[in-house]
Amino acid sequence: MDVLHTQLAALQHQLDFVATKPIDWKFYVQAFSWGVTLFESYLLLRQYPLYSKTEPPTVLAGHFSPDAFEKSQKYGKDKAKFSLFAGLFKQCLDSAMIQFGFYNWAWDVARQVLASFGYGTEYEITQSIAFSCVLFFASSIPTLPLSIYQTFVLEEKHGFNKTTPTLFVTDLLKGWGIGFVIGTPFLGAFLYVFKWAGDRFVPWLMAFLLCFQLSMVVVYPTVIQPLFNKLSPLEDGDLRTRIEALATKLKFPLKHLYEIDGSKRSSHSNAYFFGLPWSKHIVIFDTLIKESKAEEVEAVLAHELGHWYYLHPTKLLCISQVHIFTILALFPAFLHAPQLLRSFDFSKEVSAHPPTIVAFLLFQMILTPLESLVSIGLNAISRHFEWQADRFACELQEKLGSAEMHDMGDRLGRALITLHVKNLSTVWVDWLYSAYHHSHPTLTERLKALDAFSAKRASAEKKTT
Ligand SMILES: [Zn+2]
Repeated sequence: MDVLHTQLAALQHQLDFVATKPIDWKFYVQAFSWGVTLFESYLLLRQYPLYSKTEPPTVLAGHFSPDAFEKSQKYGKDKAKFSLFAGLFKQCLDSAMIQFGFYNWAWDVARQVLASFGYGTEYEITQSIAFSCVLFFASSIPTLPLSIYQTFVLEEKHGFNKTTPTLFVTDLLKGWGIGFVIGTPFLGAFLYVFKWAGDRFVPWLMAFLLCFQLSMVVVYPTVIQPLFNKLSPLEDGDLRTRIEALATKLKFPLKHLYEIDGSKRSSHSNAYFFGLPWSKHIVIFDTLIKESKAEEVEAVLAHELGHWYYLHPTKLLCISQVHIFTILALFPAFLHAPQLLRSFDFSKEVSAHPPTIVAFLLFQMILTPLESLVSIGLNAISRHFEWQADRFACELQEKLGSAEMHDMGDRLGRALITLHVKNLSTVWVDWLYSAYHHSHPTLTERLKALDAFSAKRASAEKKTT
């Protein structure tokens, strides 16, 4: 542990300039965040003309009716226009909040709220929680019209919205309630670890965050998800038999198999699995079951089990630990920097002893451009995992020695096409837009890879016969 702390101290020494040099942090944050937003807008403008193409790519030509293709192009166009507006609107809002000393104001409001209950500024954690509540409402209420528009105008127009206004409001309130119930103790404990561990907070905080992440793996699907959706056991039949057989052959520790009423809110569809290493649950959207044949849904599950087979969730968890470690290792330099708070209009008294939450928030803003790069890297890794999972489905025949799985690639391809057509997903994609935003390869790329795999297998079979 001491080696770690010596290394961390050396890093802090490198970053001493944060506390000593008079840097105009506010200017940098404004410039960087506008830079990221403008780059994202540029990507949308690169993507936009592709929605005017009148023909799908050759691999997809046979699967899209002219009508479905036209619908998907129109949907894409509307979504792109909305994203462009929403991105710029949010950026203007954030930028104004930074420029006009909003964070200082919110910290002061939190102080006044505490004072009205007779508590002073020595209750930093309580004040931090009140501060977070003020921030949360001040930043989520102005963007509420955007999600109302998205659900009731945009998705409605293209036939996807199934949410009623009542459901929208109850979802929102439930979301806020859960945010409060989980967020408050989380934040309290998070800040307490800082206070308790002092300058040696990095390993302790990492342990705390890991425990939190792991407990959410259990809590989210068992406690939170059922508040929004109904999960019912998948009924007996061809599909259940197929999935159970597949799980048994792969030694996948399947505990429960659910169908989820995803269609309650939207017609978009999918499937996923979750749970602890020894007890897994599979969830399939009712829409997917309705739209695809059992053998095709089985292929989608084969892909999902590929993620499990190659330990993709665990690998992503490890990557996130490295990411969190980097952030925490850099943070102390910003934690003890009154200059940082001063450049965001905080008063001399508050800046003299920077509250952890304020310093962390400002530090996060400074990291914005770096985080965009991280997300490009994560998307690239995630796309690589998708290829691997697709390939896994194709190779099941050899892996399990079962001849009836020889057409798994074809079935997966058909299921992907159905999902894509029903969801009116974008068909033509700009490469730079895709590299930045997409965690999955495009449909065209996936189908080409599936075809290439079958071709390779066919030629291999020819050689052996
Ligand atoms: Zn996948």
